[in-house]
Amino acid sequence: MRFFADSMLGKMCRWLRLMGYDVGYATSDMVDDSIIEICSKESLILITRDRELSIRYRNSMYIRSDRYDEQLREFVARFPPDESLYFTRCPLCNGLLRVTDDPAIMESLPPGVRKMQNRVYICTHCGKIYWEGTHYASIKNEIRSIVGGTEGKER
Ligand SMILES: [Zn+2]
Repeated sequence: MRFFADSMLGKMCRWLRLMGYDVGYATSDMVDDSIIEICSKESLILITRDRELSIRYRNSMYIRSDRYDEQLREFVARFPPDESLYFTRCPLCNGLLRVTDDPAIMESLPPGVRKMQNRVYICTHCGKIYWEGTHYASIKNEIRSIVGGTEGKER
């Protein structure tokens, strides 16, 4: 399942990617017609704050809230998350992450990170580097506090 978020849902979109959802993102200058064209061409599920747009494009999910945490709750109620997919996707560009131990990359990390020997990931699309550290744990906790733990998998 692949998704496409409208430009009003930037923050929600980054969180969804952190949770492993495949989410494209509309730029703010994109008109409704081109959003619909992209979504129908690629069979994407449109996530939108625009009621009218959600009516025009059949395969869409209208998001009521303007707060990202409530938006995420609305979303996972319909599309339950899979925790095994968390941190598999770049929040910035939606590219897939892969684990890396490339010495040149390791060398470029802050010394503290190298010492902790955390797993290091690189985005296969934009090349951004991520690692499992305290920030990673706090993101995971925040996801849990927003959408709940494993209970999200139940229907
Ligand atoms: Zn990326």
